Amino acid sequence: MRSLSWKLAGALLLIVAISVGLMAYLINLNTTREFNQYVAQGNQKNIQSTSAALSQLYSKEGNWDGIQSLLPDFLRSPNDRLVVADATGIIVGDSINQWVGKTAGSVGLSNGTTITASGQDVGELYLITSQVGNGKGFMGGGKGGTSSTPTSVATLEQDFIDRFNNSLLTTGLIVAAIALIVGLILTRQITRPIKALVNGVRQIARGNLKHRVDIRSKDELGNLGESFNAMAVNLDKAEQERKRIVADIAHDLRTPLTVIEGTVTGIQDGVFQPDKEHLDTIKEQTSLLTRLTSDLRDLSLAESGQLKLVLAPTDLADLAQRKANQFAVKAQEKGIKINTNLPGNLSNVNIDPARIEQVLGNLITNAIRHTSSGSIKISIQQVNSDAAHQVNKPSLILSVADTGEGIAEEHLPHIFERFYRVEKSRAKSEGGSGLGLAIVKQMVQAHGGNVWVESKIGKGSTFNISLPT
Ligand code: ADP
Repeated sequence: MRSLSWKLAGALLLIVAISVGLMAYLINLNTTREFNQYVAQGNQKNIQSTSAALSQLYSKEGNWDGIQSLLPDFLRSPNDRLVVADATGIIVGDSINQWVGKTAGSVGLSNGTTITASGQDVGELYLITSQVGNGKGFMGGGKGGTSSTPTSVATLEQDFIDRFNNSLLTTGLIVAAIALIVGLILTRQITRPIKALVNGVRQIARGNLKHRVDIRSKDELGNLGESFNAMAVNLDKAEQERKRIVADIAHDLRTPLTVIEGTVTGIQDGVFQPDKEHLDTIKEQTSLLTRLTSDLRDLSLAESGQLKLVLAPTDLADLAQRKANQFAVKAQEKGIKINTNLPGNLSNVNIDPARIEQVLGNLITNAIRHTSSGSIKISIQQVNSDAAHQVNKPSLILSVADTGEGIAEEHLPHIFERFYRVEKSRAKSEGGSGLGLAIVKQMVQAHGGNVWVESKIGKGSTFNISLPT
Protein backbone atom coordinates (compact mmCIF):
# COMPACT_ATOMS: atom_id res chain seq x y z
CA MET A 1 0.00 0.00 0.00
CA ARG A 2 1.40 3.38 -1.01
CA SER A 3 1.28 5.70 1.93
CA LEU A 4 -0.99 8.72 1.79
CA SER A 5 1.85 11.01 2.91
CA TRP A 6 3.96 10.08 -0.11
CA LYS A 7 1.02 10.50 -2.41
CA LEU A 8 0.27 13.97 -1.02
CA ALA A 9 3.95 15.01 -1.01
CA GLY A 10 4.37 13.67 -4.55
CA ALA A 11 1.31 15.56 -5.76
CA LEU A 12 2.62 18.74 -4.13
CA LEU A 13 6.06 18.27 -5.67
CA LEU A 14 4.56 17.65 -9.10
CA ILE A 15 2.49 20.83 -8.86
CA VAL A 16 5.56 22.82 -7.77
CA ALA A 17 7.71 21.28 -10.55
CA ILE A 18 5.09 21.99 -13.21
CA SER A 19 4.47 25.55 -12.05
CA VAL A 20 8.17 26.41 -11.60
CA GLY A 21 9.03 24.80 -14.99
CA LEU A 22 6.19 26.58 -16.76
CA MET A 23 7.09 29.87 -15.11
CA ALA A 24 10.78 29.46 -16.06
CA TYR A 25 9.85 28.56 -19.64
CA LEU A 26 7.56 31.56 -20.05
CA ILE A 27 9.98 33.99 -18.38
CA ASN A 28 12.81 32.64 -20.52
CA LEU A 29 10.75 32.94 -23.70
CA ASN A 30 9.75 36.48 -22.90
CA THR A 31 13.19 37.59 -21.78
CA THR A 32 14.89 36.14 -24.88
CA ARG A 33 12.40 37.85 -27.15
CA GLU A 34 12.80 41.19 -25.37
CA PHE A 35 16.55 40.77 -25.42
CA ASN A 36 16.64 39.96 -29.10
CA GLN A 37 14.49 42.96 -29.83
CA TYR A 38 16.70 45.19 -27.72
CA VAL A 39 19.88 43.87 -29.36
CA ALA A 40 18.36 44.13 -32.83
CA GLN A 41 17.38 47.74 -32.26
CA GLY A 42 20.88 48.55 -30.94
CA ASN A 43 22.54 46.85 -33.93
CA GLN A 44 20.24 48.58 -36.38
CA LYS A 45 21.10 51.98 -34.95
CA ASN A 46 24.76 51.02 -34.89
CA ILE A 47 24.71 49.96 -38.56
CA GLN A 48 22.87 53.07 -39.68
CA SER A 49 25.20 55.48 -37.92
CA THR A 50 28.30 53.54 -39.09
CA SER A 51 26.97 53.45 -42.66
CA ALA A 52 26.35 57.24 -42.53
CA ALA A 53 29.90 57.82 -41.21
CA LEU A 54 31.39 55.54 -43.92
CA SER A 55 29.32 57.34 -46.55
CA GLN A 56 30.82 60.66 -45.42
CA LEU A 57 34.28 59.17 -45.51
CA TYR A 58 33.75 57.86 -49.04
CA SER A 59 32.33 61.22 -50.17
CA LYS A 60 35.46 62.92 -48.81
CA GLU A 61 37.96 60.48 -50.25
CA GLY A 62 36.10 59.46 -53.41
CA ASN A 63 37.22 55.84 -52.86
CA TRP A 64 37.72 53.20 -50.20
CA ASP A 65 41.47 53.60 -49.86
CA GLY A 66 42.59 53.62 -46.25
CA ILE A 67 39.30 52.16 -44.99
CA GLN A 68 41.03 49.12 -43.57
CA SER A 69 43.10 51.20 -41.14
CA LEU A 70 40.14 53.40 -40.17
CA LEU A 71 37.61 50.62 -39.70
CA PRO A 72 38.46 49.77 -36.03
CA ASP A 73 37.50 53.38 -35.11
CA PHE A 74 33.95 52.62 -36.20
CA LEU A 75 33.54 49.65 -33.91
CA ARG A 76 31.08 50.24 -31.04
CA SER A 77 31.90 47.05 -29.23
CA PRO A 78 35.10 45.01 -29.20
CA ASN A 79 32.89 41.92 -29.73
CA ASP A 80 31.59 43.21 -33.07
CA ARG A 81 33.16 42.82 -36.46
CA LEU A 82 32.71 45.26 -39.30
CA VAL A 83 33.21 44.27 -42.93
CA VAL A 84 32.95 46.71 -45.87
CA ALA A 85 32.67 45.59 -49.49
CA ASP A 86 32.88 48.03 -52.40
CA ALA A 87 30.17 48.39 -55.06
CA THR A 88 31.50 45.33 -56.90
CA GLY A 89 31.29 43.14 -53.82
CA ILE A 90 35.06 42.95 -53.13
CA ILE A 91 35.84 43.25 -49.44
CA VAL A 92 37.89 46.39 -48.88
CA GLY A 93 37.81 46.50 -45.12
CA ASP A 94 37.55 43.89 -42.37
CA SER A 95 37.98 44.95 -38.74
CA ILE A 96 39.88 41.74 -38.05
CA ASN A 97 41.66 41.89 -41.37
CA GLN A 98 40.76 38.41 -42.57
CA TRP A 99 38.67 38.70 -45.70
CA VAL A 100 40.13 41.78 -47.44
CA GLY A 101 40.32 41.11 -51.16
CA LYS A 102 37.72 38.32 -51.12
CA THR A 103 34.17 38.74 -52.41
CA ALA A 104 31.38 39.07 -49.84
CA GLY A 105 29.50 36.18 -51.43
CA SER A 106 32.52 33.86 -51.21
CA VAL A 107 32.74 34.25 -47.40
CA GLY A 108 29.01 33.83 -46.98
CA LEU A 109 28.06 37.46 -46.37
CA SER A 110 24.73 38.61 -47.66
CA ASN A 111 22.01 41.19 -46.98
CA GLY A 112 24.42 43.94 -46.05
CA THR A 113 23.46 47.57 -45.53
CA THR A 114 24.01 49.63 -48.66
CA ILE A 115 26.35 52.62 -48.31
CA THR A 116 25.42 55.50 -50.59
CA ALA A 117 27.39 58.57 -51.44
CA SER A 118 26.05 61.38 -53.63
CA GLY A 119 23.03 59.25 -54.45
CA GLN A 120 25.16 56.31 -55.67
CA ASP A 121 25.62 52.85 -54.12
CA VAL A 122 29.27 52.72 -53.19
CA GLY A 123 29.41 49.61 -51.10
CA GLU A 124 27.88 47.26 -48.53
CA LEU A 125 28.40 47.25 -44.79
CA TYR A 126 28.21 44.04 -42.70
CA LEU A 127 28.01 44.04 -38.92
CA ILE A 128 28.79 40.68 -37.44
CA THR A 129 28.04 40.44 -33.78
CA SER A 130 30.64 38.07 -32.52
CA GLN A 131 31.74 36.53 -29.29
CA VAL A 132 35.05 37.13 -27.71
CA GLY A 133 36.96 35.01 -25.28
CA ASN A 134 35.18 31.68 -25.18
CA GLY A 135 36.33 30.30 -28.50
CA LYS A 136 32.96 29.28 -29.78
CA GLY A 137 33.25 31.24 -33.00
CA PHE A 138 30.75 33.54 -34.54
CA MET A 139 27.28 33.59 -33.20
CA GLY A 140 23.99 33.96 -34.83
CA GLY A 141 22.04 32.48 -37.70
CA GLY A 142 23.20 32.27 -41.25
CA LYS A 143 25.14 29.69 -43.13
CA GLY A 144 28.44 28.33 -41.87
CA GLY A 145 27.99 29.89 -38.48
CA THR A 146 28.80 33.37 -39.77
CA SER A 147 26.22 35.88 -40.48
CA SER A 148 25.59 39.52 -40.73
CA THR A 149 22.16 39.09 -39.20
CA PRO A 150 21.98 42.12 -36.98
CA THR A 151 19.42 40.55 -34.67
CA SER A 152 21.64 37.71 -33.43
CA VAL A 153 22.09 37.48 -29.74
CA ALA A 154 25.68 38.06 -28.84
CA THR A 155 27.54 35.83 -26.42
CA LEU A 156 27.53 38.26 -23.54
CA GLU A 157 23.82 38.59 -23.90
CA GLN A 158 23.51 34.83 -24.25
CA ASP A 159 25.65 34.53 -21.11
CA PHE A 160 23.27 36.81 -19.33
CA ILE A 161 20.30 34.69 -20.37
CA ASP A 162 22.15 31.50 -19.39
CA ARG A 163 22.93 32.95 -15.98
CA PHE A 164 19.34 34.07 -15.67
CA ASN A 165 18.13 30.57 -16.59
CA ASN A 166 20.55 29.03 -14.11
CA SER A 167 19.35 31.21 -11.28
CA LEU A 168 15.76 30.44 -12.32
CA LEU A 169 16.57 26.71 -12.19
CA THR A 170 18.30 27.05 -8.81
CA THR A 171 15.35 29.03 -7.45
CA GLY A 172 13.00 26.40 -8.83
CA LEU A 173 14.99 23.59 -7.19
CA ILE A 174 15.10 25.42 -3.85
CA VAL A 175 11.35 26.13 -4.01
CA ALA A 176 10.70 22.48 -4.91
CA ALA A 177 12.89 21.29 -2.00
CA ILE A 178 11.11 23.63 0.42
CA ALA A 179 7.75 22.52 -0.98
CA LEU A 180 8.74 18.87 -0.49
CA ILE A 181 9.83 19.46 3.13
CA VAL A 182 6.76 21.58 3.97
CA GLY A 183 4.60 19.07 2.11
CA LEU A 184 6.03 16.16 4.08
CA ILE A 185 5.56 17.96 7.40
CA LEU A 186 2.01 18.91 6.44
CA THR A 187 1.08 15.49 5.17
CA ARG A 188 2.54 13.93 8.30
CA GLN A 189 0.28 16.15 10.34
CA ILE A 190 -2.68 14.93 8.32
CA THR A 191 -1.75 11.27 8.09
CA ARG A 192 -0.63 10.78 11.71
CA PRO A 193 -4.19 11.23 13.10
CA ILE A 194 -5.62 9.20 10.19
CA LYS A 195 -3.23 6.36 11.02
CA ALA A 196 -4.20 6.64 14.69
CA LEU A 197 -7.87 6.42 13.70
CA VAL A 198 -7.30 3.44 11.39
CA ASN A 199 -5.48 1.68 14.23
CA GLY A 200 -8.29 2.68 16.63
CA VAL A 201 -10.97 1.22 14.35
CA ARG A 202 -8.94 -2.01 14.07
CA GLN A 203 -8.63 -2.23 17.86
CA ILE A 204 -12.37 -1.70 18.34
CA ALA A 205 -13.12 -4.27 15.61
CA ARG A 206 -10.92 -6.73 17.52
CA GLY A 207 -13.01 -6.08 20.61
CA ASN A 208 -10.57 -3.84 22.47
CA LEU A 209 -13.25 -1.36 23.52
CA LYS A 210 -10.90 0.34 26.01
CA HIS A 211 -8.77 1.71 23.13
CA ARG A 212 -8.77 5.51 22.72
CA VAL A 213 -7.03 7.65 20.08
CA ASP A 214 -4.73 10.53 21.02
CA ILE A 215 -5.44 13.32 18.53
CA ARG A 216 -4.95 16.80 19.91
CA SER A 217 -5.29 18.96 16.79
CA LYS A 218 -8.09 21.50 16.92
CA ASP A 219 -9.33 20.83 13.38
CA GLU A 220 -11.78 18.43 11.75
CA LEU A 221 -9.44 15.51 12.45
CA GLY A 222 -9.39 16.52 16.12
CA ASN A 223 -13.21 16.50 16.08
CA LEU A 224 -13.15 13.10 14.42
CA GLY A 225 -10.81 11.82 17.13
CA GLU A 226 -13.09 13.18 19.87
CA SER A 227 -16.13 11.58 18.22
CA PHE A 228 -14.25 8.30 17.87
CA ASN A 229 -13.35 8.32 21.57
CA ALA A 230 -16.94 9.20 22.52
CA MET A 231 -18.14 6.30 20.35
CA ALA A 232 -15.61 3.95 21.98
CA VAL A 233 -16.76 5.05 25.47
CA ASN A 234 -20.40 4.40 24.49
CA LEU A 235 -19.58 1.03 22.95
CA ASP A 236 -17.65 0.09 26.07
CA LYS A 237 -20.52 1.18 28.31
CA ALA A 238 -23.05 -0.69 26.16
CA GLU A 239 -20.87 -3.81 26.29
CA GLN A 240 -20.54 -3.59 30.09
CA GLU A 241 -24.28 -3.02 30.34
CA ARG A 242 -24.97 -6.02 28.09
CA LYS A 243 -22.75 -8.25 30.22
CA ARG A 244 -24.40 -6.98 33.39
CA ILE A 245 -27.88 -7.58 32.00
CA VAL A 246 -27.07 -11.08 30.79
CA ALA A 247 -25.60 -11.90 34.22
CA ASP A 248 -28.64 -10.37 35.99
CA ILE A 249 -31.13 -12.22 33.80
CA ALA A 250 -29.26 -15.49 34.28
CA HIS A 251 -29.19 -14.93 38.02
CA ASP A 252 -32.85 -13.91 38.26
CA LEU A 253 -33.94 -16.94 36.24
CA ARG A 254 -31.71 -19.33 38.16
CA THR A 255 -33.03 -18.43 41.63
CA PRO A 256 -36.69 -19.48 41.13
CA LEU A 257 -35.61 -22.42 38.93
CA THR A 258 -33.36 -23.70 41.74
CA VAL A 259 -36.22 -23.44 44.22
CA ILE A 260 -38.59 -25.26 41.84
CA GLU A 261 -36.03 -27.97 41.08
CA GLY A 262 -35.22 -28.43 44.77
CA THR A 263 -38.86 -28.71 45.75
CA VAL A 264 -39.68 -31.15 42.89
CA THR A 265 -36.61 -33.28 43.69
CA GLY A 266 -37.62 -33.31 47.37
CA ILE A 267 -41.09 -34.51 46.42
CA GLN A 268 -39.65 -37.17 44.07
CA ASP A 269 -37.27 -38.41 46.76
CA GLY A 270 -40.08 -38.52 49.30
CA VAL A 271 -38.41 -35.85 51.44
CA PHE A 272 -41.36 -33.45 50.85
CA GLN A 273 -45.01 -34.31 50.55
CA PRO A 274 -46.72 -33.03 47.37
CA ASP A 275 -48.93 -30.95 49.65
CA LYS A 276 -50.40 -27.46 49.24
CA GLU A 277 -47.44 -25.79 50.91
CA HIS A 278 -44.89 -27.19 48.45
CA LEU A 279 -47.15 -26.80 45.44
CA ASP A 280 -47.71 -23.14 46.48
CA THR A 281 -43.94 -22.66 46.56
CA ILE A 282 -43.65 -24.06 43.03
CA LYS A 283 -46.58 -21.89 41.87
CA GLU A 284 -45.08 -18.78 43.49
CA GLN A 285 -41.69 -19.31 41.79
CA THR A 286 -43.39 -20.07 38.46
CA SER A 287 -45.35 -16.79 38.71
CA LEU A 288 -42.09 -15.02 39.46
CA LEU A 289 -40.55 -16.51 36.32
CA THR A 290 -43.62 -15.62 34.25
CA ARG A 291 -43.53 -12.04 35.52
CA LEU A 292 -39.82 -11.73 34.91
CA THR A 293 -40.03 -13.04 31.35
CA SER A 294 -43.06 -10.90 30.51
CA ASP A 295 -41.34 -7.83 32.04
CA LEU A 296 -38.28 -8.54 29.91
CA ARG A 297 -40.43 -8.92 26.81
CA ASP A 298 -42.33 -5.67 27.49
CA LEU A 299 -39.10 -3.85 28.13
CA SER A 300 -37.37 -5.05 24.99
CA LEU A 301 -40.48 -4.28 22.88
CA ALA A 302 -40.71 -0.79 24.36
CA GLU A 303 -36.99 -0.13 23.95
CA SER A 304 -37.05 -1.16 20.30
CA GLY A 305 -40.15 0.99 19.69
CA GLN A 306 -42.27 -2.07 18.89
CA LEU A 307 -44.65 -1.84 21.82
CA LYS A 308 -48.18 -1.80 20.39
CA LEU A 309 -50.35 0.63 22.32
CA VAL A 310 -54.13 0.27 22.16
CA LEU A 311 -55.00 3.91 22.73
CA ALA A 312 -58.36 5.03 24.01
CA PRO A 313 -59.62 8.28 25.60
CA THR A 314 -59.41 7.44 29.30
CA ASP A 315 -60.47 9.02 32.57
CA LEU A 316 -57.13 8.85 34.39
CA ALA A 317 -58.67 9.73 37.78
CA ASP A 318 -61.05 6.78 37.48
CA LEU A 319 -58.19 4.44 36.50
CA ALA A 320 -56.05 5.67 39.44
CA GLN A 321 -58.92 5.23 41.89
CA ARG A 322 -59.52 1.65 40.76
CA LYS A 323 -55.82 0.86 41.13
CA ALA A 324 -55.74 2.45 44.61
CA ASN A 325 -58.67 0.29 45.68
CA GLN A 326 -57.00 -2.81 44.25
CA PHE A 327 -53.88 -2.26 46.38
CA ALA A 328 -55.68 -1.07 49.52
CA VAL A 329 -55.73 -4.51 51.18
CA LYS A 330 -52.06 -5.20 50.44
CA ALA A 331 -51.15 -1.79 51.87
CA GLN A 332 -53.30 -2.35 54.91
CA GLU A 333 -51.45 -5.59 55.64
CA LYS A 334 -48.37 -3.40 56.22
CA GLY A 335 -50.36 -0.83 58.17
CA ILE A 336 -50.22 1.70 55.34
CA LYS A 337 -53.13 3.77 54.07
CA ILE A 338 -53.53 4.72 50.43
CA ASN A 339 -54.97 8.24 50.03
CA THR A 340 -56.04 9.84 46.77
CA ASN A 341 -56.40 13.38 45.49
CA LEU A 342 -58.05 12.93 42.14
CA PRO A 343 -59.96 15.96 40.71
CA GLY A 344 -63.22 15.07 39.00
CA ASN A 345 -63.07 17.54 36.11
CA LEU A 346 -59.92 16.37 34.34
CA SER A 347 -59.62 16.11 30.55
CA ASN A 348 -59.49 12.57 29.18
CA VAL A 349 -56.09 11.31 28.11
CA ASN A 350 -55.47 9.19 25.03
CA ILE A 351 -53.65 6.23 26.57
CA ASP A 352 -53.42 2.47 26.56
CA PRO A 353 -55.25 1.88 29.89
CA ALA A 354 -53.76 -1.59 30.43
CA ARG A 355 -50.21 -0.25 30.09
CA ILE A 356 -50.81 2.75 32.33
CA GLU A 357 -52.40 0.43 34.90
CA GLN A 358 -49.24 -1.66 34.72
CA VAL A 359 -47.18 1.55 35.27
CA LEU A 360 -49.28 2.64 38.23
CA GLY A 361 -49.22 -0.93 39.62
CA ASN A 362 -45.40 -0.92 39.54
CA LEU A 363 -45.25 2.48 41.29
CA ILE A 364 -47.74 1.48 44.01
CA THR A 365 -46.01 -1.90 44.52
CA ASN A 366 -42.68 -0.10 45.00
CA ALA A 367 -44.26 2.45 47.34
CA ILE A 368 -45.75 -0.30 49.52
CA ARG A 369 -42.52 -2.31 49.41
CA HIS A 370 -40.35 0.64 50.54
CA THR A 371 -42.70 2.14 53.13
CA SER A 372 -42.92 0.68 56.60
CA SER A 373 -45.24 3.21 58.18
CA GLY A 374 -47.27 6.19 57.11
CA SER A 375 -49.22 6.54 53.91
CA ILE A 376 -49.18 6.54 50.14
CA LYS A 377 -50.84 9.36 48.24
CA ILE A 378 -51.94 9.11 44.63
CA SER A 379 -52.72 12.47 43.03
CA ILE A 380 -53.27 14.02 39.62
CA GLN A 381 -52.84 17.61 38.50
CA GLN A 382 -53.33 19.28 35.17
CA VAL A 383 -50.49 21.45 33.79
CA ASN A 384 -49.93 23.38 30.56
CA SER A 385 -46.21 22.81 30.68
CA ASP A 386 -43.37 22.12 33.11
CA ALA A 387 -40.03 22.98 31.51
CA ALA A 388 -38.04 21.62 34.46
CA HIS A 389 -39.38 18.13 33.72
CA GLN A 390 -39.49 18.33 29.92
CA VAL A 391 -43.26 18.65 29.86
CA ASN A 392 -43.93 20.97 26.96
CA LYS A 393 -47.53 20.12 26.14
CA PRO A 394 -50.70 20.37 28.27
CA SER A 395 -50.51 17.20 30.35
CA LEU A 396 -51.81 15.36 33.38
CA ILE A 397 -49.20 14.68 36.04
CA LEU A 398 -49.89 11.50 38.01
CA SER A 399 -47.90 11.27 41.24
CA VAL A 400 -47.38 8.43 43.72
CA ALA A 401 -45.91 9.80 46.94
CA ASP A 402 -44.91 7.67 49.91
CA THR A 403 -43.56 8.32 53.38
CA GLY A 404 -41.06 5.48 53.08
CA GLU A 405 -37.31 5.07 53.32
CA GLY A 406 -36.49 7.43 50.44
CA ILE A 407 -33.66 7.07 47.93
CA ALA A 408 -30.12 8.43 48.38
CA GLU A 409 -29.15 11.17 45.95
CA GLU A 410 -26.41 9.13 44.27
CA HIS A 411 -28.94 6.45 43.23
CA LEU A 412 -31.55 8.83 41.84
CA PRO A 413 -30.01 9.20 38.34
CA HIS A 414 -29.91 5.38 37.95
CA ILE A 415 -33.12 3.99 39.37
CA PHE A 416 -34.91 4.04 35.98
CA GLU A 417 -32.14 1.87 34.48
CA ARG A 418 -32.72 -1.83 33.80
CA PHE A 419 -31.83 -4.14 36.71
CA TYR A 420 -30.72 -1.23 38.86
CA ARG A 421 -31.36 -1.96 42.51
CA VAL A 422 -30.40 0.32 45.36
CA GLU A 423 -29.83 -2.53 47.79
CA LYS A 424 -29.45 -5.72 45.86
CA SER A 425 -29.86 -8.29 48.62
CA ARG A 426 -32.84 -6.74 50.31
CA ALA A 427 -34.67 -5.93 47.10
CA LYS A 428 -34.25 -9.50 45.90
CA SER A 429 -35.50 -11.06 49.09
CA GLU A 430 -38.58 -8.92 48.56
CA GLY A 431 -38.93 -10.08 44.98
CA GLY A 432 -37.71 -6.97 43.12
CA SER A 433 -36.06 -7.65 39.77
CA GLY A 434 -34.89 -4.11 39.09
CA LEU A 435 -37.07 -3.93 35.99
CA GLY A 436 -40.16 -2.20 37.44
CA LEU A 437 -39.05 1.42 37.01
CA ALA A 438 -37.35 0.76 33.66
CA ILE A 439 -40.72 -0.53 32.39
CA VAL A 440 -42.47 2.53 33.88
CA LYS A 441 -40.11 4.83 32.02
CA GLN A 442 -40.39 3.04 28.68
CA MET A 443 -44.20 2.78 28.84
CA VAL A 444 -44.62 6.45 29.73
CA GLN A 445 -42.19 7.55 27.04
CA ALA A 446 -44.09 5.41 24.52
CA HIS A 447 -47.12 7.59 25.44
CA GLY A 448 -45.10 10.77 24.75
CA GLY A 449 -44.73 11.53 28.46
CA ASN A 450 -41.91 11.75 30.96
CA VAL A 451 -41.00 10.34 34.40
CA TRP A 452 -39.12 11.87 37.29
CA VAL A 453 -38.65 11.32 40.99
CA GLU A 454 -38.16 13.49 44.05
CA SER A 455 -36.89 11.75 47.12
CA LYS A 456 -35.29 12.37 50.50
CA ILE A 457 -33.73 9.67 52.60
CA GLY A 458 -35.96 8.89 55.59
CA LYS A 459 -38.73 11.19 54.35
CA GLY A 460 -40.13 9.36 51.36
CA SER A 461 -40.29 9.46 47.58
CA THR A 462 -42.62 10.93 44.99
CA PHE A 463 -42.69 9.35 41.54
CA ASN A 464 -44.30 11.47 38.81
CA ILE A 465 -45.39 10.61 35.32
CA SER A 466 -46.68 13.06 32.73
CA LEU A 467 -49.22 12.07 30.05
CA PRO A 468 -50.09 14.57 27.31
CA THR A 469 -53.84 15.35 27.13
P1 ADP B 1 -37.41 -3.46 41.83
O1 ADP B 1 -38.18 -4.41 41.01
O2 ADP B 1 -36.16 -4.01 42.37
O3 ADP B 1 -38.22 -2.72 42.79
P2 ADP B 1 -37.48 -1.08 40.32
O4 ADP B 1 -36.94 -0.78 38.98
O5 ADP B 1 -38.93 -1.02 40.49
O6 ADP B 1 -36.86 -2.43 40.74
O7 ADP B 1 -36.78 -0.07 41.32
C1 ADP B 1 -35.41 0.15 41.29
C2 ADP B 1 -34.88 0.51 42.67
O8 ADP B 1 -35.42 1.78 43.05
C3 ADP B 1 -35.32 -0.44 43.73
O9 ADP B 1 -34.33 -1.42 43.93
C4 ADP B 1 -35.49 0.42 44.97
O10 ADP B 1 -34.30 0.40 45.73
C5 ADP B 1 -35.69 1.81 44.44
N1 ADP B 1 -37.08 2.28 44.62
C6 ADP B 1 -38.09 2.17 43.75
N2 ADP B 1 -39.22 2.71 44.25
C7 ADP B 1 -38.91 3.14 45.47
C8 ADP B 1 -39.65 3.82 46.52
N3 ADP B 1 -40.93 4.14 46.40
N4 ADP B 1 -38.97 4.11 47.65
C9 ADP B 1 -37.66 3.81 47.81
N5 ADP B 1 -36.91 3.20 46.87
C10 ADP B 1 -37.53 2.87 45.72
